[in-house]
Amino acid sequence: MFSGAAGGPGDPSTVTRVSVRHCPNPKCPYRAEHGRPAEYRDDASTCSDCGAELADGKGCFDTEDLRSARPLEELGEQLDTEIDALGDASGDPILLQKAPGSISLPTIQLVSGALVIAVSFYYLEQRHFVAVIPALVGFILFFLGFNRIKHRDRRARRVRLHQKGFAFHIGEKEIAVPFEEIEMAGIGQRALRSKGVTLGVLHDLLLSCCGGVYSLSSFESHAGLQPRETDRFVLWARNVVARAKKQAL
Ligand SMILES: [Zn+2]
Repeated sequence: MFSGAAGGPGDPSTVTRVSVRHCPNPKCPYRAEHGRPAEYRDDASTCSDCGAELADGKGCFDTEDLRSARPLEELGEQLDTEIDALGDASGDPILLQKAPGSISLPTIQLVSGALVIAVSFYYLEQRHFVAVIPALVGFILFFLGFNRIKHRDRRARRVRLHQKGFAFHIGEKEIAVPFEEIEMAGIGQRALRSKGVTLGVLHDLLLSCCGGVYSLSSFESHAGLQPRETDRFVLWARNVVARAKKQAL
């Protein structure tokens, strides 16, 4: 159904894979037991567990999809729908949260660099000219930290539900994703740990769309608590999955 990350879109060599079918019945006993739809080769027509008519595709995402998923931003090159065409917006825009930790090293470099420069200049004032060396080190640290912070992707990512799709805003860029373009949608989560402590959960929305798998992630901090079921991104993503499923029926 989708050619994945291998090859470019439209490359005919990448679509020669064994086609699979799956059981779309949400009440299938196989699905209840394994948490995913039963898969069949394309020569089968009904599910051996419940007898339902099979549907094309594999019906769910696997770890390979999660690994090879591309950021949703890249979907903008494939779609040319205007946000106005999605109908009225429902609910407020939701800001996607980034996982913590990406800023710590540059910040440490910046602060320690500034500190070393200040101390070195104090000694230079006192005519201890050997302090030129730590001053130089301080400048290098400061520059490294400054450069990393400057080049960090600080564009805000927001999503908003509309009648016929959802809008994804990244900085100044806008991408309109109509539900009818979504072949399959699913939600996953990964625990984010640092030094054995769980910091929170990274929620992923996976979309199979325009021949590829795309992902959108938001971080939910635990702050020492159990996972909250009320995270706005998760509620929003569930809505997207439900509407995409309805579209596919
Ligand atoms: Zn079945």
